[in-house]
Amino acid sequence: MNLLVLNCGSSSVKFQLIATDLDRIAQNTDQRLARGSLERIGGEAIITLHAEGQAPHRSTAPLRDHRAAVELVIRWVCSEGSRISDVKSVGDIHAVGHRVVHGGERFRHSVLITDEVLRGIEECIDLAPLHNPANIKGITAAREVFGVGLPQAAVFDTAFHQTLPEHAYLYALPYQLYRRHRIRRYGFHGTSHRYVAYRYRQLRGIPRDQTNVITLHLGNGCSAAAIRAGDSVDTSMGLTPLEGLVMGTRSGDIDPAIVDFIQAKEGLSAQEVETLLNKQSGLIGISGLTNDMRELLDEAHEHNDRRARLAIDTFCYRARKYIGAYLAAMGGADALIFTGGIGENSAEVRTLICEGLEWMGLKLDAERNSQHTSGREGLISRDESRLAAFVIPTDEELLIARDTVRCVRGAPQRY
Ligand code: AMP
Repeated sequence: MNLLVLNCGSSSVKFQLIATDLDRIAQNTDQRLARGSLERIGGEAIITLHAEGQAPHRSTAPLRDHRAAVELVIRWVCSEGSRISDVKSVGDIHAVGHRVVHGGERFRHSVLITDEVLRGIEECIDLAPLHNPANIKGITAAREVFGVGLPQAAVFDTAFHQTLPEHAYLYALPYQLYRRHRIRRYGFHGTSHRYVAYRYRQLRGIPRDQTNVITLHLGNGCSAAAIRAGDSVDTSMGLTPLEGLVMGTRSGDIDPAIVDFIQAKEGLSAQEVETLLNKQSGLIGISGLTNDMRELLDEAHEHNDRRARLAIDTFCYRARKYIGAYLAAMGGADALIFTGGIGENSAEVRTLICEGLEWMGLKLDAERNSQHTSGREGLISRDESRLAAFVIPTDEELLIARDTVRCVRGAPQRY
């Protein structure tokens, strides 16, 4: 089957075209045919279209809305110019998989999209007011373009964490708030945590119920997950993606009383403080320079910039605290898994995070870590390390494509 994977933001559409099916999943022979992005939809959009094995094609064009964006993608995919030999017409696209940010407590797995499912996603808008409406736009656009007959699946960022036990997902707030408004920890990046845990057990040749790992998704957004017997049992993001680790522009954990304090001292509205915590905090907040870890590392090395170093240290310290907490929560783990732009690419950050964890049985292998090739999967701890460490590049789009196939074929979702 040829699957179109869509990840829609309020003014953007990212896509991938992936050829896969149940036998290809079993043999790991899925094939990425194309990918691309359309940014600044609603005005003069910036378009990148990239067929596998060809040079990327960049252009701009006015795009009215998400429907126009999806139409452009399909026109390009089916055109002679894209040189995607297996896709000549719309009929050669067999299903669409959508990334959907929030599935609330309702969606524990990926599902085929029906009118009822769409209503369910709409009901979660309160929980993700910035993201779910954009995801719905993408679903509606694809329905209009392909017709309702083409199967479409929703793959939720929150679904993997629906196995959290009650004591891990509840906040210590008046219980009625949970009852009335479903205020609880949901967690995000679930597709990424699930994917790397799945790859880990493939690398080790072990079954799902022996997968006991801590996964660290460290990108511009960052989260940790405690995975016991293949299930997520705790995770650092909460009701929203603001909680937990230090991120590019998000604060992660803070004392909630700070919100009121900043409002009073700085004369800001609640909305302005929320923006401050989401957009002006984290690495950029501490360093005053950038949210980009690579640039911070350069600043720290080349100019010995104190606040760049402080931002890096705070970032790594917070991650290490979560590892300790999760090891305690899980009663030990077999491996740490690093993923995301920072986790996959920065040996220095990995070293700093793992520093001082030797007593827990983690022996990082300095050479394996520094020699690790970006984009590859690999062990970065010593062979005798009781707690192993791996780098596993994430591939959320592939998992969305595979989940879509499983939904269409009626195959089990838990694997
Ligand atoms: P993502 O959101 O997963 O694309 O990750 C983006 C983050 O990864 C940014 O902070 C980048 O600076 C960081 N990153 C990418 N490559 C490197 C690298 N070689 N060293 C350090 N950080 C990197």
